[in-house]
Amino acid sequence: AKELGKNNYQFYSPALDKSAEERLALESHLRKALEKEELLLYFQPQMELATHRIIGAEALIRWNHQEKGMISPGHFIPLAEENGLILPIGAWAIQKACEINKTWQQAGYPPITMAVNLSGRQFLHQPIVEIIAQALKDTGLDPQYLEVEITESLMMVNVDESIEILKRLRNMGVKIAIDDFGTGYSSLAYLTKFPIDILKIDSSFVFRILESEGALAITSAIVAMSQRLGLKVIAEGVEKTAHLRLLKDMGCDIIQGYLLARPAAPEDIAPMLTPKYFE
Ligand code: C2E
Ligand code: CA
Ligand code: CA
Ligand code: CA
Repeated sequence: AKELGKNNYQFYSPALDKSAEERLALESHLRKALEKEELLLYFQPQMELATHRIIGAEALIRWNHQEKGMISPGHFIPLAEENGLILPIGAWAIQKACEINKTWQQAGYPPITMAVNLSGRQFLHQPIVEIIAQALKDTGLDPQYLEVEITESLMMVNVDESIEILKRLRNMGVKIAIDDFGTGYSSLAYLTKFPIDILKIDSSFVFRILESEGALAITSAIVAMSQRLGLKVIAEGVEKTAHLRLLKDMGCDIIQGYLLARPAAPEDIAPMLTPKYFE
């Protein structure tokens, strides 16, 4: 279960491994981090393979800790999930992501879709639809330019409720992506029950497509299945040109990974939205 720890609060995570004392300290710091504006969003671009244009970006949270420097979400999101801080933090992230996407549009860049991660407590235990609606209203972002990412394991916690929430979001015009696809425990039958627009192939497969026949087979099967189901497919963790070529040959729609850019501050990502940037 260690593999899944990054975005599944019920599994292993480094934050939960710390001593009680350390956790308390981290927790009280995190509480203040939001107020002190130590939390920020980084963005990672997503490129459409047919055009080589940036058509989306994923918002990834960071904590710029006064003493410890930049802390990655794997070290505090699981804790925030546990103590409920994910609710204000998550709402802030949604608002901020919409705001920045709107700013890019107003600056004259071609519009892109902004993807925001939702974790367990955020998705199932608070009025997420209202929070998203409010963020769209406050920022004036057209809903078609917002996408939510949830994992298949999360959708399976409460299937009926998940379908209901996703339907409401989709009726608003927001897009739905399944994150880390291929690593969860859901049955493929569910793919047709859930209102989904995008599958994101987990990086653990993409990383190995050059070395492992198995990883290659799984990746191309997910791409083929997505096409048959009329879903867009994004490959995550694309680090090499050779990965890009293979994925393009398979018919994969979109790539994301260090090959294009590491997650970075909005001012570093904005220039990449220029149409010819990756040509
Ligand atoms: P994720 O949603 O699966 O995000 C992808 C992770 O892979 C990111 O790690 C990203 O920096 C990393 N990555 C992207 N391309 C490459 C690549 O080519 N090679 C390698 N080795 N890694 C790559 P990051 O930013 O540390 O985020 C970790 C997890 O934290 C995310 O996993 C997501 O589950 C969670 N997270 C991040 N931001 C938020 C947020 O605002 N809300 C919630 N609820 N969770 C978040
Ligand atoms: Ca994600
Ligand atoms: Ca992912
Ligand atoms: Ca993940």
